Amino acid sequence: MSKIKCIVAGPRGKMGSEALRLIEKEDSLELAACIDRKHEGELVKNIPGLPDLDGVIYTDAEACLLETEADVLIDLTTPEYGYKHTKLALENGVRPVVGTTGFTEDQLDELKELAEEKQLGAVIAPNFAVGAVLMMQFSKWAAKHFDDVEIIEKHHDQKLDAPSGTAVKTAQLIQEERESHKQGHPDEKETISGARGAEMDGMRIHSLRLPGLVAHQEVVFGGLGQTLTIKHDSYTRESFMSGVKLSAEQVMNFTGLVYGLEHLLD
Ligand code: NAP
Repeated sequence: MSKIKCIVAGPRGKMGSEALRLIEKEDSLELAACIDRKHEGELVKNIPGLPDLDGVIYTDAEACLLETEADVLIDLTTPEYGYKHTKLALENGVRPVVGTTGFTEDQLDELKELAEEKQLGAVIAPNFAVGAVLMMQFSKWAAKHFDDVEIIEKHHDQKLDAPSGTAVKTAQLIQEERESHKQGHPDEKETISGARGAEMDGMRIHSLRLPGLVAHQEVVFGGLGQTLTIKHDSYTRESFMSGVKLSAEQVMNFTGLVYGLEHLLD
């Protein structure tokens, strides 16, 4: 079987560099090139701290996608650039595997349409950790039996978007089972703005940002005389890489946009 040729966007980042280490050790994957904001024309292996790989670094994403023979773009950058790169990849016949979080609903709709129009596979997964995907699925199941729920997500303090993509996705899955209603006391008032967290369909989402954290989430359901907590912790970024590998392999086999790793696990 021929190797899947990957472009990695964000190779110096915490996730991007982990993706490079994945490519280095996986026989099914090969590095074609990288998209970065620095190091135009240099080889990955010459950048301190990055693995011994030959891919060329481009600072111009469009040039990279035009000039590189690639199957898949793995994007682990920022919401603004992740969206631009994903669009460019689809326009240039490259299948995106996107871990970057923070895309808007409108952007997701546009990318879905584009993937269909171009007849290409695409994966956008707010969380590549299999345990986190199971946490989301278990939460959807629990929502059939509990009306009230709050989500507490905790991430490192360099994260740009809040709430996390995983928290939003969890809330959306719960929404499919839960009847929309405002939670808490009908007359509750915040004495300090934001005390009750973000509101989505009456549910509350709380975002913690602290050094030392990686990616963690608790989904707390409350019922009469009981609570149920479903909790997942990613302690290192390696936890996300089996999902990246699975997505890069599977995206070659279907057309259209898949949002969420759970659709690939089944
Ligand atoms: P990070 O360490 O800040 O890495 C982001 C990298 O992207 C940085 O190296 C940054 O370069 C680079 N970058 C910014 N703009 C760029 C551009 N225009 N072209 C190319 N590279 C660019 O962040 P991270 O923790 O790796 O996270 C990256 C993304 O993945 C975030 O959206 C995060 O929420 C998401 N994430 C997803 C999962 C998942 O499982 N799906 C898990 C963890 C994180 P500079 O350093 O020069 O700014």
